[in-house]
Amino acid sequence: MKPAPFDYVRPRDLQEALALLADENANAKVFAGGQSLGPMLNLRLARPSKLVDIRHIPDLRVVRADSRSWWIGATFTHAEIEDGVADDFSCGLLPFVARGIAYRAVRNRGTVGGSLAHADPAADWLSTMAAVGATIVLRGQAGERRVPAQQFLLGAFTSEVGSAEILTAIELPRLSAMARWGYYKVCRKTGEFAKAIGVTIQDPQIGLFRILAGSTEGRPLMLARSAEILANRGPDRAAREVRDEIDAALSHVEPGRRQQLVVAVRRSLQKISLLEAA
Ligand SMILES: Cc1cc2nc3c(=O)[nH]c(=O)nc-3n(C[C@H](O)[C@H](O)[C@H](O)COP(=O)(O)OP(=O)(O)OC[C@H]3O[C@@H](n4cnc5c(N)ncnc54)[C@H](O)[C@@H]3O)c2cc1C
Repeated sequence: MKPAPFDYVRPRDLQEALALLADENANAKVFAGGQSLGPMLNLRLARPSKLVDIRHIPDLRVVRADSRSWWIGATFTHAEIEDGVADDFSCGLLPFVARGIAYRAVRNRGTVGGSLAHADPAADWLSTMAAVGATIVLRGQAGERRVPAQQFLLGAFTSEVGSAEILTAIELPRLSAMARWGYYKVCRKTGEFAKAIGVTIQDPQIGLFRILAGSTEGRPLMLARSAEILANRGPDRAAREVRDEIDAALSHVEPGRRQQLVVAVRRSLQKISLLEAA
C-alpha cells in the first residue's frame, strides 16, 4: 500500500514549524526520522495532509550542559548518539542504549525525540529517560512545557505531546564519575523491540538510585523499594526485592511476562554488582 497524498514542508526554524502545526485546517504532522511514521503512512494508519520535516531546525540539534544537568536536542539520531557525535554526559549509558536499538539502517534515521513522541511502551528511550529521571521539553505556540519522563506516557502510543507541539529536547541529570549503570534488554534477536527492559542507575555523588522495569504495556515501572535497598544495602540485596515489587505492582499481568521483567531488572543489577567487584 502507498500513502495517501500529502504536502511536504521543511521549516527553517521552530516558530515556522509550530505555526504550521497550529493551523487547524492543515492537518499537519511532525516528520522526524520517518522510521515509525513511514510505515504508518504506507498502511494509511496515519493520513496527514502535510508533513512538517523538523530535521533541519538548528534549535533541535543542540547539546549543552551545566554542572548539574544536560540537554540533548530531539533530532539527534540513535546512530549519532551511538557514535558520540552528540556529546555524552551519561557516563556511556545513552550510547550503549542507542547501540541496541533496531539495526544500523534504522538508527541512522530514527531520532531520540521521534522515538519518545511515538510512545511505544517497548521503546528503549522511553525506559532510559524515565530511569535516569529526565524531563521532556515540549514547545507549542503558547510556550514551553516540561514533563517528567516517568509521566510522559499516557498509554500505549499516546503521550503528553499535543498535536500542535514539538518535543524539542530532553533534559537529563549529569552523571558523575562515580555513576554505575546497568541496562538489560530481553529480546529474541538483535534489532528487535524489547520484551522486557531492566535499568539500574546509581550515582552516590548526586544521590541518584533508581531501578526501572520497562516494556510493560503502559508506563515503565519505577521500583522505589528496590532502589532504596540498592542505596542502603547494595545491588545483591536489591535484587532479592525485585520479584515481590514487580508482582505486587503488575499482579494483572500474566506470570511469564512478569518473569521476563524480573530477569531484565536483576541482570541490570548484576552489572552493577560486577562493576563494584572489579
Ligand atoms: C525495524 C525496526 C526496528 C525497531 N526497533 C526498535 C528498538 O529495538 N527499540 C526502539 O526503541 N525503537 C525501535 N524502532 C523504532 C525506531 O527507534 C524509530 O526511530 C522511532 O520509533 C521513531 O523515531 P523517528 O525519528 O523515526 O520518528 P518518526 O517516525 O518520524 O515519527 C514518529 C512519531 O512521532 C512524531 N514525532 C517525531 N518527532 C517528533 C518531535 N520532535 N516532536 C513531536 N512529535 C514528533 C511523529 O509525528 C510521529 O507521530 C524500530 C523501528 C523499526 C522500523
